[in-house]
Amino acid sequence: MSNPSDKTETRMNKQPEKRRADLLNMSLEEIKSDLVSLGEEHYRGDQIYQWVYRDVAFDEMTNLSKSLRQKLAQNYIIGTLKQLKRLISADEHTIKYLYLLSDNNIIECVVMKYRHGNTICLSTQVGCAMGCSFCASATGGLIRQLNAGEMMAQVLESNRDLAKLGWNPVSNVVLMGSGEPLDNYENTMKFIHQIHHPKGYNMSYRNITLSTCGLVPKMRALADEGLNINLAVSLHASNDNVRKKIMKVANVYSIEEIIDASRYFYAKTGRRITFEYVMIDGVNDRPELAAELSQLLYGFPNHVNLIPLNENKQNKKKRSNNTAIREFMSVLRSYGINVTIRREMGSDIQGACGQLKADFMEKL
Ligand code: SF4
Repeated sequence: MSNPSDKTETRMNKQPEKRRADLLNMSLEEIKSDLVSLGEEHYRGDQIYQWVYRDVAFDEMTNLSKSLRQKLAQNYIIGTLKQLKRLISADEHTIKYLYLLSDNNIIECVVMKYRHGNTICLSTQVGCAMGCSFCASATGGLIRQLNAGEMMAQVLESNRDLAKLGWNPVSNVVLMGSGEPLDNYENTMKFIHQIHHPKGYNMSYRNITLSTCGLVPKMRALADEGLNINLAVSLHASNDNVRKKIMKVANVYSIEEIIDASRYFYAKTGRRITFEYVMIDGVNDRPELAAELSQLLYGFPNHVNLIPLNENKQNKKKRSNNTAIREFMSVLRSYGINVTIRREMGSDIQGACGQLKADFMEKL
C-alpha cells in the first residue's frame, strides 16, 4: 500500500518551478523594491545592478554574502541568448548574429566596426507588423514584442563574443534591426533608460539612435520624453503615392504628418533628424523626386542617408544603379540638403534586417 505522504510529495514535485525574474529586464528601482520584499536592504540593489552590467555571475558577486547570492540564484536569472549563427563579413567590419530566445523564437542583430566605436543594430520585436515591401523582417508579420531584457541581452551576449574576437564592446546602439521600436514603445523606452543608466551600462543618450517608419503619435510622445537620443526616420519617398507603393504605414500617416512630427522632435530635443532613403531602382530614385524631397526637408536641421537597397530573395526589388544614386545625391546637395550615401556594410553576410533569419528559417 502506498504511503499517502508519497502522493503529497509527488503532487508537490509536480508544482511548476517558480519563474525567476530576469534582472536584465528590471530597472534599478524595480530590483531595489523586489529585494526589500525578500527581506534585503535597499542599497544592495545598487551593488547587484553594477555587477549585472559588468557581466558577473551571482557566485562572483564578491561584496554580497553567500546567503544573498543563493537567494539571488533562487529568485532571478541574468538573461542570456543562445548564439545560433555568427557571420563575419570579408572585410571584417561587420558581424551578424542569429540568436535563439528562451521561447525558441529567433532574432538577429548586427555589430559594425566604425572609427568612432562599435555599433550594434539590434531587434526590438520578433518579426514586424509594418510590412515594408523591401524588408525581409516583414515577411511573417509580427510574432511578438521583445522585452527590455531581451534587447539588453543582445548587447551583452554580443559583447561576450566580441571580446573573444578581440573587438571592443559596443559603444553605440541603433534600434534599427527587426521590428518597429515605436510599435513596442514601453519596452523600448525601458531599454533606453536601462542602457543609459550611469550605474549600469552607462551609454550616453547621444550614442543611441532610434529608427522609425513614422508612427506619428509615438514620434511626438518620444519627443515629449525630452531625451537627447538620435531619431532616424525611414522616409524612402518624397510623396505619399510613391511611399504607399513600398510602405503599408503610408496608408495611415502622411509624409506631411511625419515631417511635422520630425520638426516637433527637433524643437523638443535640439537633435538633428536623419531621414533614411533606400534607393530602389525605378521606384523612388528619379532626380525630380530628389527635388521634391528637398522641398519637404527645407528649414530645419536634418540629414539624408541614401541606402542602396540590399537585394534579397524576400524583397524581389532591385538596387538603384550607382549613377542614379549619385545623381539623386547631387540634386539634394544643389538644394543645400546634407546628404551621404551609406556604406554597404555586410552585404556579403545578408546584412539587411531580417535577411539572415529568413534564409536560416528557409533551410530548417
Ligand atoms: S523596414 Fe523596419 S518597419 Fe519596415 S517592415 Fe522592416 S523592420 Fe518593420
